[in-house]
Amino acid sequence: MARPVISAEERRRVAEVLRSGRLAAGPVVAEFEEAFAAYIGAPHVVMTSSGTSALQAALVACAIGRGDKVLTTPLSFVATATAITSLGAVPVFVDVEPATGNIDPQALEEAVAEHPDARALLVVHLYGHPADMPAILSVADRAGLIVIEDCAQAHGAAIGEKRAGCFGHAAAFSFYATKNMTTGEGGAVVTAEPEVAERARLFINHGQRERYLHESLGLNLRMTDLQAAIGLGQLRRLPRMNARRQAHAAYFDGHIDNPAVEKPGVRAGYVHVYHQYTVRVDGRDRFVKHLNACGVAAAVHYPLTIPEQPCYRSLPCVARPCPVAEGIARRVVSIPVHAALTLGELRRVVAAVNSFAPDGR
Ligand SMILES: *Cc1c(COP(=O)(O)O)cnc(C)c1O
Repeated sequence: MARPVISAEERRRVAEVLRSGRLAAGPVVAEFEEAFAAYIGAPHVVMTSSGTSALQAALVACAIGRGDKVLTTPLSFVATATAITSLGAVPVFVDVEPATGNIDPQALEEAVAEHPDARALLVVHLYGHPADMPAILSVADRAGLIVIEDCAQAHGAAIGEKRAGCFGHAAAFSFYATKNMTTGEGGAVVTAEPEVAERARLFINHGQRERYLHESLGLNLRMTDLQAAIGLGQLRRLPRMNARRQAHAAYFDGHIDNPAVEKPGVRAGYVHVYHQYTVRVDGRDRFVKHLNACGVAAAVHYPLTIPEQPCYRSLPCVARPCPVAEGIARRVVSIPVHAALTLGELRRVVAAVNSFAPDGR
């Protein structure tokens, strides 16, 4: 499903950091922050230890805390919601639109009416396809919501010329090993607001601006210079790696012709970076077995909605009805689309998908 490639330049930069003796809190993290800010098109970036810690820092920096209601999607990796829960805030789940699996602006409108006290919206660009930000922001602005983007799957995704990470008050990215670009583990908070960046930086560094003077509650959620050395090269290669994902998706769009398999679409004017190429099929579990038997990997993103996860039986949340998200979760399968696939592998994936017989014959 993923095959991270570390270039010669990245190895060289890591070796340089090792030789320098400056493994953490050094100049390479700052260099990566500047380069990432320039790429996304936002003025401030704070690198962190993971996407999860970037989400926590973004929420804290937007003053979200105990008891605050945060509207979010039921269809995402669990960290989207657990970052909210970890701060004592309460996720309120808003159903998604059928086409993209992203938050449905109409459902958001209804959720805002039911929960006028909600303080923020944490929106995810699922699989690398941007959420409907024009419609979502119009609802959020009218409701006075703070908007935070979870861009863990959306490095380089865009609506028109505007990249994911530039739509809200703050955004969180992940550089985990399977994402569109990686530092092994790592994350970033992105924001246009200097005070938000400053509060995020305090939170990930023990609340200290000056050494051993702790102004506010913080933790150690920093990125190392070793990670940043990898990230700089990955960022340089991101446009090429995303173009390869898009070319692989176009190959699947053109060659998958099994009527039992629904292919993902892209909204006009949107840039989809295909963190996942996720199809929908009835009899999903048999489909996965069939692919595996053909020597093709597959993964389910995600088998349960977040409010259906066992942890949210006991954790505080508002589990509004999410029939669309639940329907999608029963049918989704992601097939390999990563940048390192070969033409032979693409052909094998297509042959496996096209040879699936839905009725079991
Ligand atoms: C990967 C991911 C995260 C968490 O990032 P980590 O770096 O693994 O902590 C959060 N949200 C989404 C949507 C993700 O895909």
